[in-house]
Amino acid sequence: MSSTTSNPTLANARIAVLGYGSQGRAHALNLRDSGLDVVVGLRKGGPSWERASAEGFTVAEPGEAVRGADLVAVLTPDMVQPALYKESIEPNIKAGAALLFAHGFNVHFKQIAPREDIDVILVAPKGPGALVRREYEIGRGVPSIWAIHQDVTGQAEAKAKAYADGIGGGRALLIKTDFKEETETDLFGEQAVLCGGASSLVQAGFETLVEAGYQPEIAYYEVLHELKLIVDLFYEGGIARMLEFVSETAQYGDYVSGPRVIDAGTKARMKDVLTDIQDGTFARNWIAEYQAGLPNYKRFKQADLEHPIEQVGAKLRARMSWLQAGAAKAAGEPL
Ligand code: NAD
Ligand code: MG
Ligand code: MG
Ligand code: MG
Ligand code: MG
Repeated sequence: MSSTTSNPTLANARIAVLGYGSQGRAHALNLRDSGLDVVVGLRKGGPSWERASAEGFTVAEPGEAVRGADLVAVLTPDMVQPALYKESIEPNIKAGAALLFAHGFNVHFKQIAPREDIDVILVAPKGPGALVRREYEIGRGVPSIWAIHQDVTGQAEAKAKAYADGIGGGRALLIKTDFKEETETDLFGEQAVLCGGASSLVQAGFETLVEAGYQPEIAYYEVLHELKLIVDLFYEGGIARMLEFVSETAQYGDYVSGPRVIDAGTKARMKDVLTDIQDGTFARNWIAEYQAGLPNYKRFKQADLEHPIEQVGAKLRARMSWLQAGAAKAAGEPL
């Protein structure tokens, strides 16, 4: 595919993408298809090395990829970034080069103190990597937010926008933010609503129906499967669009029962979650958990994976063959 970006700022730049997971793979592929020069930085023998090579990239150890790069995109897991910065980026990044993040966590919470002779910027697509790639391939993009932490060249904004254009975000919508706002809102969104809130809501709804004696298969469709339809309507036209498409009975039930489930107490607890994010409590706990070898994280994850809704869901999805292709595509796997 050739849809070379018309943005000239990075036209002659070498971009090192560190990490080839959800975001890294999507960014690397989109930047390359936009006509930019990309090298992928990974640990030799790590899980992604083979895949990035097979997909045609020059792959190098992180320090080697950083050397000579004009822009270094840090797309490894957040918790490995501080050591990666110390060992591979700080000693190798050129003066005047740009260090780019897709999430402001380590800079905002001071786990990384970037060298003073480089630009430090952020481009965060508001969507998972698979969508960043899929939208790009069909000629669209994922709305993205950008920020500047440090501008030593006077080019930081131009570089952030050129990178956002290169991954396709510029085809959609770009919004200026700062590292603090991106970090705090991203953490709040995933904790209270998108990942934590939504999965807890689904699990509680499922448990309520099953404990009342209804079939788990029917509970699964009612509280998990059908959620996609509702969320697609939100995505296209907001809550108004959802209300247009559901019955009057569903609307009335929404108005009288929704606020009984998500009430002022829920909102007060959301504010507590936000306070923990803002005052650094969440970051401190997460860093300590990671350094302790993830004991609670592993236990919580296991409980989610063993929840009865996962067992009935796996059985039902195996019988819905059309979902298998969609799931592989969403994960960015070749079909
Ligand atoms: P990921 O876990 O999907 O991928 C991590 C990649 O880094 C893998 O290729 C892995 O092999 C590699 N890696 C791990 N340790 C490494 C090391 N020490 N040196 C070099 N490579 C190493 O990560 P992700 O979810 O794409 O997250 C990357 C960044 O993007 C994070 O800052 C995250 O907050 C941000 N982000 C993620 C999403 C998302 O949807 N996943 C959305 C927006 C922003
Ligand atoms: Mg996010
Ligand atoms: Mg996030
Ligand atoms: Mg959960
Ligand atoms: Mg129904």
